[in-house]
Amino acid sequence: MEKTSASRTFARSVCPHDCPSVCALDVELAGDGRIGRVRGAPQPYTDSVICAKVARYAERVHHPERLLQPLLRRGAKGGGEFTPISWDAALDLLAEKITTAVARHGAETVWPYHYAGTMGLVQRAALRRLGLVSGWSRQRETFCVALADPGWLAGVGVKRGVDAREVVDSDLIVVWGGNPVHTQINFMHWIQKAKRERGARLVVIDPYRTPTAEKADLHLAPLPGTDGALACAVMHVLLAEGYADRDYLAKHTDFSPAVEAHFAQRTPEWAAAITGLSPAQIVEFARLYGATQRSYLRVGYGFTRQRNGSAAMHAVSCLPAITGAWQYPGGGALFGQSGLYGLERRFLHGEDAPNPPARTLDMSRLGAVLAGEKRDLGDGPPVSLLLVQNTNPAVVAPESGRVREGLLREDLFTCVHEQFLTDTAKLADLVLPATTFLEHDDLYQASGHTFLQTARALIPAPGECRSNQVFIGQLAARLGQAHPAFALDAWALVDRVLTDSGKPGADALHAAGWLDCAPPFEKAHFLDGFGHPDGRFRFAPDWAARGERHATMPPLPDHQDVIEKTDAEHPFRLVAAPARNFLNTTFGETPTSRRHEGRPTVLVHPAVCARLGIADGDIVTLGNTRGALRLHARAGSGQLEGTLVVESQWPNDAFIDGIGINLLVGAEPGFPGAGAAYHDTAVWLRPA
Ligand code: SF4
Repeated sequence: MEKTSASRTFARSVCPHDCPSVCALDVELAGDGRIGRVRGAPQPYTDSVICAKVARYAERVHHPERLLQPLLRRGAKGGGEFTPISWDAALDLLAEKITTAVARHGAETVWPYHYAGTMGLVQRAALRRLGLVSGWSRQRETFCVALADPGWLAGVGVKRGVDAREVVDSDLIVVWGGNPVHTQINFMHWIQKAKRERGARLVVIDPYRTPTAEKADLHLAPLPGTDGALACAVMHVLLAEGYADRDYLAKHTDFSPAVEAHFAQRTPEWAAAITGLSPAQIVEFARLYGATQRSYLRVGYGFTRQRNGSAAMHAVSCLPAITGAWQYPGGGALFGQSGLYGLERRFLHGEDAPNPPARTLDMSRLGAVLAGEKRDLGDGPPVSLLLVQNTNPAVVAPESGRVREGLLREDLFTCVHEQFLTDTAKLADLVLPATTFLEHDDLYQASGHTFLQTARALIPAPGECRSNQVFIGQLAARLGQAHPAFALDAWALVDRVLTDSGKPGADALHAAGWLDCAPPFEKAHFLDGFGHPDGRFRFAPDWAARGERHATMPPLPDHQDVIEKTDAEHPFRLVAAPARNFLNTTFGETPTSRRHEGRPTVLVHPAVCARLGIADGDIVTLGNTRGALRLHARAGSGQLEGTLVVESQWPNDAFIDGIGINLLVGAEPGFPGAGAAYHDTAVWLRPA
């Protein structure tokens, strides 16, 4: 689909970055394999709006430091010295290393370490498929939603919610634990529309004054990890002051006298002692929420990245069930829409064939796994071969000091297929150049909206870059793995997934631009039943169905007291929040993003700055039992004294000590299953 406007040619694409918005893009084709401007396409959700970092994508895709050829390490591990080799030599070497490792230790010694990164559904599936059919270790994906999903599913029962575009019918929008100005600019655009056209009010709940909070009519900043307590106290007020919709509760939920008695004990005073907010702030928000029928709760990810994140998510998701907001246009809640696409992926993932059984490793515990911890490895072999795609664990994985130690193991062979020489690639033995979304075909669904989209390659791959599907297919052939998906090109695989799912084929969907999978009002608002067999929202969840470590979960919505505690040695709680100009670790390589972000900085309450003698721009040290690192300090506003905030993810070398903020973040998983608790960290702070 190409369009010419004012002598410029634009072609349709889709943003692949691991972001809820999955924007429809119009990419300017500037000739000679180059792109010019990138702008938002008029897809109904994207609505022609995209973030600045993708609008300047030419800077990234044509970056002089793009990886263009396979590289083999020479010299010491982590020394950063590589020699170019051919793809054939690289594939032969990798196949030989895998074969030798498997012969020595068994197939589980190989860990196909992958995530969403910069890829859509087809490109990210290739490595997972090869691992599955080969009997390699499987992976528990725990970086992003492993804590949020169980909490949402506990109450609602299915991962979908009210269409984000419906906020134009809302009178109150609550953004709980998210910062759309940094992470979902489209949703901010819809909020602004609702404010402008309907006079909707905005409440933001976030432990610091984000740019989104600055635009709010009311900002509540609880201590990190206490959102469950805040939600319970709000529900106490709603029930005590007559804001509950008793008919709705009786018809659509499992609400009971036991639940009512439980909330009667969760007073604003009780929550104030946990959250650091005042009872008056809690009551003010509760009354505003209770008095507004059309209240839209946009539930973010941030507040769930705590060891009690699932319990907190469940408690927050109960709010619209108490007031019955689900019944009204512009009312209800949204966490994510990934449950509504109904894509059939067994062929894509290789699950249609018999697969050898294998253990599962937790990606957030990479450091522990590489250190050989029995708790992670079980009776299986050590990991001696790591094949990494679409993620940068040397920066992203918790306990990054241990991760680095592990990646430096002499008996570990690491291959990284990447677009840039990331921190993980720098520690690898073999580095292979990967295509970007502009250079391959793929299929995309979104969590923030309801549109299924396809994108085709728009420019040739630079240098010797190969796509995930091509590289993994060639490796599979060398290893003798014959699943038919390896032999297909990416577009044929997109077509197979779509037709297996009863959707229009790839060409038809691409010609149409997108497919809106939004259900009708009654279904979107769960008026025909929530996702449990009895169709009722659950205040009393079946936590046993949500994770193997469910015994500690609270039986009713509550504050689960399992977060990393502050003490005299570690008096602060640290939030490692997303920066506006980076997306996880992507864009850390582009000069404009780095210039806009400045440098790694910790936001400190002004009273703490005064007490410790810290001035703006001073270098300070943050630390805990996992390590210590230096960075610059700045006085923050709108946060409690016990809260510190570092917006990241910066490349490791941007920090004074050459290692980033996840050095301090623990790899102990959250409850009831697993999940990285990125914002659940107790630290000390000292002037450097
Ligand atoms: S807002 Fe998200 S999906 Fe949209 S262009 Fe930016 S990174 Fe991509």
